[in-house]
Amino acid sequence: MAKYIFITGGVVSSLGKGVAAASCGALLQSRGYSVHARKFDPYLNIDPGTMSPFQHGEVYVTNDGFETDLDLGYYERFLGIQMSRNDSVSGGRIYWDVLNAERRGDYLGATVQMIPHVSNKLKEYIGANTDTDFVVCEVGGTVGDIEGKIFLESIRQFANDVGRQNVMFIHLTLAPYLETSGELKTKPTQMSVRELLENGIQADMLIVRTPRMLTADEKAKIGMFCNLPAKNVISGIDVDNIYKIPLAYEAQHVFDIMAQHFGLPNATGNMDKFHKIENYLSADLPVVNIGVVGKYFDVPDAYKSLNEALFHAGIQNNVHVKIHKINAEQFNPDALSGVDGILVPGGFGTRGIEGKIAAATYAREKCVPYMGICLGMQVAVIDFARNVVGISDAGSAEFGKACTPVINIMADHDSADMGGTLRLGAYPCMIKPGTLAEKIYGTQQISERHRHRYEMDVSLSDEFEKCGMIISGLSPDGRLPEIVELKNHPFFIAGQFHPEFQSSPYKGHPMFNAFIAAAVKNSLCAKNKV
Ligand code: GLN
Repeated sequence: MAKYIFITGGVVSSLGKGVAAASCGALLQSRGYSVHARKFDPYLNIDPGTMSPFQHGEVYVTNDGFETDLDLGYYERFLGIQMSRNDSVSGGRIYWDVLNAERRGDYLGATVQMIPHVSNKLKEYIGANTDTDFVVCEVGGTVGDIEGKIFLESIRQFANDVGRQNVMFIHLTLAPYLETSGELKTKPTQMSVRELLENGIQADMLIVRTPRMLTADEKAKIGMFCNLPAKNVISGIDVDNIYKIPLAYEAQHVFDIMAQHFGLPNATGNMDKFHKIENYLSADLPVVNIGVVGKYFDVPDAYKSLNEALFHAGIQNNVHVKIHKINAEQFNPDALSGVDGILVPGGFGTRGIEGKIAAATYAREKCVPYMGICLGMQVAVIDFARNVVGISDAGSAEFGKACTPVINIMADHDSADMGGTLRLGAYPCMIKPGTLAEKIYGTQQISERHRHRYEMDVSLSDEFEKCGMIISGLSPDGRLPEIVELKNHPFFIAGQFHPEFQSSPYKGHPMFNAFIAAAVKNSLCAKNKV
């Protein structure tokens, strides 16, 4: 039977529960245990697909086509495991399930209540199909939130059902430092742990976010008030890179605390992959400058997986990647003059679209390495149609203006729910032999994740190819262009999918790795010219 670790948070939101959950999982994996992870979000949206990146950060997409919380991206990246639709469960989805069951008559006339009907449904999701040694479950929100109550109640019941020895509660809190009194304050932590206890949950370990390491006295005080051994109080100090967190936990014996709790044998972990990243971070390496032409820059998490994938490709290429955020809505080509590579990421709606098209034009004309992701492929196609093929009013059906739509809706992307008509999740793509795409992937069939509504019109292929834009990736039925590239260009490639969702910190992603390699080459050329 699997053992369960529940991660909750108190005092404030944004304490980094996702990374904490992934890091605890990584410590278990480093001792050879198999780990799965799940995220529970108390909010009422059925899934995060309809939430704006301006509010909620990136929407992460799983292989099975579910739009999920971005924390699932941490789990996949840290743990190298695959997430699916049952690993991101919101309050809305639970209520939806329960209310649908009620309408179907499944409850046989019973009064449908929060306990047991909602709590049982939640427990079903917590315990669903797991064949791993451990399941790490993160509960979103902050202890004390009204909509979170039923989640706490359900994890309390779950621990009671499966046996307390099979469950560990890890709670993240905050200890603010008061400049004026020169003190680290533990009261918010005490109150948050008490609030958790009011819900019947005794924290087994605390990760206290603090600006500096907790002293032995502070740990003893927190332990005493919070009813747990001082050694189970961990300092969650800020680090400049999230991949240092598993190492910080390792140094504070977090595995030993978990092992003691669950009665596991002592074991030394192999943390090499994290040390490798740590060494890379401190190494004095050349810097490659990448211009990302997008529009969601005010939200730090909106391009989370993209930033990660660029970072991973930097590790693979032994360079530091510096991202230059270029706002497509006030696009000025001068902003691209010093960059070694240009990336246009995914996006929705018309805002900034002409700036993105202009960025593709710039990359094509000036022979700067270009990588386009989803909308970034669509704008590359539009630029090429307008300025090379000669379709001067080329555009996309998405932009609502009269145009010749080279990017258009495909009638058969249908789905009944709210995300409707989006092509979501992993789809196979056949790669044309002898192309840059084949060189990059080293194979002729790949699978990449999608999240979009519009597609390049495949009937344009011949005309485009004659002019120098090759459709180097196609859906197996030949109807949907998946990758385009330019014949006469050092590196210009764009995919209708989101390769960033499959990038790993330990090996990068072929397309990002190749893009950064091309940008490095370009920067070396530029240096030779001066
Ligand atoms: N807005 C475009 C579409 O729906 C691209 C989406 C994206 O970049 N994820 O097709």
